[in-house]
Amino acid sequence: MTAAASTGKADVVIVGGGAAGLATAIFTARRAPDPRIVVFDAAPKLGAKILVSGGGRCNVTNVRVTPRDFNGGSLNVVRNVLAAFDERRTVEFFRELGVGLHEEDWGKLFPDSNDAHTVLKALINETRRLGVRLLERRRVVSVEPQADGFLIRTRDAGPPSLTSPPTRLDPAAPLDDDGTWIARRVVLATGGQSLPKTGSDGFGYELARRLGHTIVPTTPALVPLILDGDFHIPLSGIAQEVEIRVRVEKDRPVRIVGPLLWTHFGVSGPAVLDASRHWHRAMLDQRPVAVTINLLPGKDLAAAERAFLDRSARQPRIAVATALADFVPARVADAIVNELGIPARVTLANFDRTARRRLLAAILDRPLPVRDSRGYNYAEVTAGGVALNEIDPGTLASRRCPGLSLVGEILDVDGRIGGFNFQWAWSTGFVAAQHLAELTRE
Ligand SMILES: Cc1cc2nc3c(=O)[nH]c(=O)nc-3n(C[C@H](O)[C@H](O)[C@H](O)COP(=O)(O)OP(=O)(O)OC[C@H]3O[C@@H](n4cnc5c(N)ncnc54)[C@H](O)[C@@H]3O)c2cc1C
Repeated sequence: MTAAASTGKADVVIVGGGAAGLATAIFTARRAPDPRIVVFDAAPKLGAKILVSGGGRCNVTNVRVTPRDFNGGSLNVVRNVLAAFDERRTVEFFRELGVGLHEEDWGKLFPDSNDAHTVLKALINETRRLGVRLLERRRVVSVEPQADGFLIRTRDAGPPSLTSPPTRLDPAAPLDDDGTWIARRVVLATGGQSLPKTGSDGFGYELARRLGHTIVPTTPALVPLILDGDFHIPLSGIAQEVEIRVRVEKDRPVRIVGPLLWTHFGVSGPAVLDASRHWHRAMLDQRPVAVTINLLPGKDLAAAERAFLDRSARQPRIAVATALADFVPARVADAIVNELGIPARVTLANFDRTARRRLLAAILDRPLPVRDSRGYNYAEVTAGGVALNEIDPGTLASRRCPGLSLVGEILDVDGRIGGFNFQWAWSTGFVAAQHLAELTRE
């Protein structure tokens, strides 16, 4: 099909103006002299995911990022990408944009303003300064390879939401054109399908598939888990440090230490979110999976028993639940004692070895009866995506479709909690941009 008379022209069209799309635009524009770069975003409000991230504070990266912080496709690809633009360069990049970062628990880096708006504003200002056109509420509906580039069809994505008016980024942008563009290069930066109301609804996978790519089946990741039973219900709101083990048949168990939050539906909190992708991938592959928690992280049976006996020796007359509350939150101690049917009058002095071992098993290797997760609407990221072996690791250019590049969460890579997913967005944006900038000079 030929392009209409009013077709817009660009050197690079970036589909998706999230973290990865904006980073790609900035790094390409910085390297290539006067490139015509257009970013389309379908969402009514650009950068919605950046704004909700990190509880509205945006955990931009981590003080230490390694390939082991990621799951999905080849770790070698991840290693290459991170090596090209690591966490130190991220800190420097944001410092240049006027966004200082500070460290919090678990090495997480947040903006000094503690406000994700600072991060989004800095990225948008920089893209604007560099002359990049940001067109929001523009959904890309097809990308068709042509003799020397692509024909991109876009559609007005509808009226802005009443609750979130659009950021008018480029008042000069003609939103009433026929929506057809031609570009020499296209970058898919459409994200995954987590939190679809922010605009990342998974359609990017379809665009990639039509351009010849294989999509590794997707599942939610970094998502709270729904539990069977009612043990968790009275504990809603309690947070505690745990060790979670996910045992998938024939695999080495995955161990995750960190905070767990009991909720009315089950469990959440960083350790649970990290565990969730392993549970989901096992379910996807129809492999038996068991999730257990140790409420005394770092302690095995021998160490826990020693601690308990030591307590018994010092205060033999106290109730079991009282003693247990030294080790776990009091309401959790009560719930376990009730669950095991240990009468309130039982003290440490008359708590025999068999009963003690039963109690310790319920604390140290406690099955989590996972029924499901809360799904994409509550997931922070998507596991699965465009297969990494179809991407050149040095440039992030497609090996299936010349002129196409892919960045960010659309790829089959998902990071654990702690700023790693944004680091993936910045790093992939940087790597793709070096290549795009070379090409736009041709
Ligand atoms: C609640 C929440 C909290 C999070 N907190 C953190 C955190 O603190 N730290 C961290 O590292 N990670 C965090 N993440 C994950 C992180 O936000 C994502 O991994 C990251 O934003 C992915 O960037 P991206 O640019 O690849 O995709 P996205 O940010 O999803 O951006 C993709 C963009 O593409 C647009 N788009 C999609 N399809 C089309 C189309 N057809 N046409 C035009 N535009 C399209 C969408 O509107 C969207 O704006 C969080 C995620 C969520 C949901």
